[in-house]
Amino acid sequence: MNATRMPAAFIGHGSPMNALEPNRHTEAWSAFAQSAPTPRALLVVSAHWYINATAVTAMAAPRTIHDFFGFPKQLFDLEYPAPGLPELADEVAAVAEPIWIGKDLDSWGLDHGTWSVLCHMYPKADIPVVQLAINAAQPLEYHVALGAALAPLRDAGVMIIGSGNVVHNLGMLDFSDPEAGFDWALRFNEKAKELVATKPGDAASLGADPDYRKSAPTPDHFIPFLYFAGLAAAGDTTPEVITDGYYAGSLSMTSWRLA
Ligand code: ZN
Repeated sequence: MNATRMPAAFIGHGSPMNALEPNRHTEAWSAFAQSAPTPRALLVVSAHWYINATAVTAMAAPRTIHDFFGFPKQLFDLEYPAPGLPELADEVAAVAEPIWIGKDLDSWGLDHGTWSVLCHMYPKADIPVVQLAINAAQPLEYHVALGAALAPLRDAGVMIIGSGNVVHNLGMLDFSDPEAGFDWALRFNEKAKELVATKPGDAASLGADPDYRKSAPTPDHFIPFLYFAGLAAAGDTTPEVITDGYYAGSLSMTSWRLA
């Protein structure tokens, strides 16, 4: 009903090195952004802001956070100086009611789950960015429901992006075949693809899957996918895979767009 509805996406961000090393996945992220109308703002649910509260960044100039170690200096030197959009915090709070959303004025900023993706999608860093924290204390269903509640923002010029990885097990990385995926990773990722395309509102049921514990030993990278599933459940279009594949056995790089 609204011709300007913004697409939404889930981006499988993988290694921080993807910020520096373009590849077929980063090219797909970039192509997606180029095909989309220019958003008023980007609202990103990043795996790397995983705290015991539901909150959004509400500062005018969020800092670039280098939340990793053991990577080249070039990655620590990378800045993503996009502005914030403090009034979007109020808009997020309004659509999320009765869920309460805190405003973060000075603790967080833009972490690498956000900037390692946006440096490919919007390299000029000229579109305001707000991050939404993942509340680690809440059950999986909460995140699907909150994702669905955010859907009206798509009609207000906001592109909502979940940034994580459906399969993300750093303890089992196996670099002997960088593009391969373990059997359990393939099974779980394929189930996620099937479910988000057919019954996205049931995405939290993946938490009961036999392969869930290996695929998401900590749920931080999986949960951004639940926000995307919630948006899909609230919409009337089917998610479309924009890039697919695996990294070092235990990460899936699948990314989706919604219209
Ligand atoms: Zn990550």
